[in-house]
Order: sequence, then structure tokens, then C-alpha cells
Amino acid sequence: MALAVTSSNAITGSFSSRSNPSYEPSKVLQLGNFQPLDRRDLSSTGVNVSRRRGKVRPLHAEPKKNNSMVPAAATIVAPEVVEKVEVEDYERLAKDLENASPLEVIDKALEKFGNDIGIAFSGAEDVALIEYAHLTGRPYRVFSLDTGRLNPETYKFFDTVEKHYGIRIEYMFPDAIEVQALVRSKGLFSFYEDGHQECCRVRKVRPLRRALKGLRAWITGQRKDQSPGTRSEIPVVQVDPSFEGLDGGAGSLVKWNPVANVEGTDIWNFLRAMNVPVNTLHAQGYISIGCEPCTRPVLPGQHEREGRWWWEDATAKECGLHKGNMKDENVNGTGNGAVHANGSATEADIFTTQSVVTLSRPGIENLVKMEERKEPWLVVLYAPWCRFCQAMEGSYVELAAKLEGSGVKVGKFRADGDQKSFAQQELQLGSFPTILFFPKHSSRPIKYPSEKRDVDSLMAFVNALR
Ligand code: SF4
Repeated sequence: MALAVTSSNAITGSFSSRSNPSYEPSKVLQLGNFQPLDRRDLSSTGVNVSRRRGKVRPLHAEPKKNNSMVPAAATIVAPEVVEKVEVEDYERLAKDLENASPLEVIDKALEKFGNDIGIAFSGAEDVALIEYAHLTGRPYRVFSLDTGRLNPETYKFFDTVEKHYGIRIEYMFPDAIEVQALVRSKGLFSFYEDGHQECCRVRKVRPLRRALKGLRAWITGQRKDQSPGTRSEIPVVQVDPSFEGLDGGAGSLVKWNPVANVEGTDIWNFLRAMNVPVNTLHAQGYISIGCEPCTRPVLPGQHEREGRWWWEDATAKECGLHKGNMKDENVNGTGNGAVHANGSATEADIFTTQSVVTLSRPGIENLVKMEERKEPWLVVLYAPWCRFCQAMEGSYVELAAKLEGSGVKVGKFRADGDQKSFAQQELQLGSFPTILFFPKHSSRPIKYPSEKRDVDSLMAFVNALR
């Protein structure tokens, strides 16, 4: 495993290719060779050493596995960890920082955690995080997950970023034995057959877990507008709900999301204004960038997450890196939340308007069986307790009102509890909400493929098929 200190302009201010033409990448400290950075080193670079808590350690704090092909250097653990992060109320801090700029948030994060925080870099527009960190003038570290399945353009971009900022990205690789077992038993493209979770677990989640075990905090490029289904509530800072940090145990890791409230267009305006290099895949229509087999360009007007795992259900598009975002109905990937596992109704019903027809089980069974319908139908499969269903209530009701008298019927079918297995088998239910269009002259319903559930998007879907 190649591990390198990601030097920032402060740790390695003199290395920055932008600030110093004498920058020589070969002289950048490399954690792969494991050169602990002690306070003497820092003082020689002008870093405020009082800010720093300990020695630079690799992004890997697990004991060495005998059967692992992970190089020994990656398992060396720096012996000195003495100081604990002060107790902080992160919910309150998140509220305090809600209106802060990304630059302020990153500055605060770097100030608080020094060398114990890392920027997670995917090779996409989250390069903005590196630019912001650079602008703070503080030391910073960057790590990236090399799944082995990235686009060549992304690898080239990593190299460009390293040279541009005079840094070394700390790459994390999957365990070779685990990859070997997966590929030998299921082939190279098993994710198209049985979902992306298993492959992501091996190639992304476990390497990420190893990386985070060497840190006390991490910085992500998550934004609310990236996924209405899973990212609509992310705070600017939070105690990580899923992963553990250096000290182990719940609450040992803090997750910073400095661009949570920033729109994608504003990120791009920032990148252009600062002349930041970007992945050349963006020029080919890619917005969200991940592994090559699981990412594709999107068309104008399509949501960026529609280019990821497009063969799967729209609301479950997290690879596990941010699984804390998946609550209630999505937590186990089945669309059935623990609280409501028996389908008991603890929430008031939704979509309650005369324009939306409530379909019973026989009603929707009839609709499915019909070869010829008098009129086409749009039907939402929902659960009243599902917050994604609740979030689309307004737009669905408005759509139903607009379609009244148009010849298109709008209905709803409650598909949780006892109806769930039927809906999964017969109605393509993946997770809630699932929206189906039943054309007039075809028995086969067509599933709405997008996460965009605003009135215009739903209307465009109906108009394209009616
Ligand atoms: Fe595997 Fe695709 Fe996940 Fe990459 S994105 S780890 S190739 S399933």
C-alpha cells in the first residue's frame, strides 16, 4: 500500500509548485517510506507546532494481517498519540457554521484537527476542497481510494493535482486477497448482476475504514443537491455516524462536509474563478465520477447521480462511504425500515387529495393485468412513514391536479407491510417511492428512473410516454 504524507503548502510550503518554482516533487515527504514528521521538522518549515498533536501516521491503523498482501510499511503505527480532541458539541457547531463559507469551515476543521484530519478526494469536482485547504495556508492531507477500476483520466488527474499543489495523495488500496476472492468467485462485473454493494465493500468501504482508523476527522465533498434521496440532510459537521477514528468506538471520528450547502454550479464557478485543474472526464459529460464500469455521462437535465449505478434503484445510490446518510427505509438496502418493519402505520397517510386515486391490492392487480386501458395511469408505490415519499408529496399532489381532465389518471398504492413482497415481485418496487407509468396500450408498467421528483420532471416523464 502506497502511503504518502500529503504535504500542504504549510507543511511543505516551500514545495508548492505554484508558490515556488524550485519545487521538486521527489523531495516531498513520503509516508510510503514512512518518515515520521516530528516537531523539529515542523519548526523548520515554519508550521505553528502548537497546533499539531502528534507525529504523522499512515492512514492505516489496523494490526498487520498475516495473509494480507499489504506492504509492511503500511502497518507501522506511530507510537505516540497522547492528546485527545476536546469534547465538542458538533450539533451546535454545525448550527453555528450553517451559514459559514466552505473556506471558513475548512479553516476551522484544519485548525481543530491539524494532522489528524484528511480530505477525501474522489478525483472529481471535490478538488475544490483541496483548493480551499490550500487557500487557508494551513497544513492538510489528502487521501484517495484507488479501487483499481478508475478511469485512466482519473489517474492522470490525480497526478495533475499532486503536481499542481505540490502534494502527495495518500492512496488507499483494497486488500488484494479480498479482491482476488471476489473476482475469482463472481467475475469482474458481478455488480451488474447482484448489486454494487459487495464490490464497493471490498474496493472502497474497507480501504476507507482503514484510512479513517488513522484519523480523528475527515473532510468530504458531499453536497445536499447531489442526491435528494440520500444527501438532503447532511450537516456541515457531524460526529461520523458510521465509521471509527483513531481512538476507536462510536464518536471517535468527526466528519466535515464544508460544501454541504453549496450548489454544484457554485462549485464550478469557484473552480473556474480559481483556475483549478479538473478531471477531463467532465468535458465528456461526466458529473459524478467514480469507477469506470459504474459511472457514465449524463444528459443535459439529468441528475448527476443518474450516472452512477444506473441499473439500480435511484434512492439507494450510496457506495457505503456515506452510509450514515441512509436512514430508515434505506438502512438495510431493502426499503424496509426497522421501525416500520411490520408495516404498522404510525404516520398519517399522504397524497390525500381527490386528484390521487387510492388503489387497493385488487385495484392495482387489475391495472397490471389489463392489456388495453381506457387511459394511462401514473402510480406511486409509497409508504407514509418514508421521508422521501413525504418529501415528494407536494409535487405529486400538484402534478395530479394539473393532470385532472387530461386523460391521465394519477394513483397511489401503499406498498409497505404485507403488500411489500407483492410489490417487489410484481411492481418493480426497489425502495420507496417507486413511480410507475402504465401506458394505455401496453400491459408492462414503466418505472420512473430519476431521483428528480419535482412537478416538471414528473410531467416530462408522463408527456414522453402518454
Ligand atoms: Fe466496484 Fe463499481 Fe463499487 Fe467501483 S463503484 S467499487 S467497480 S461496484
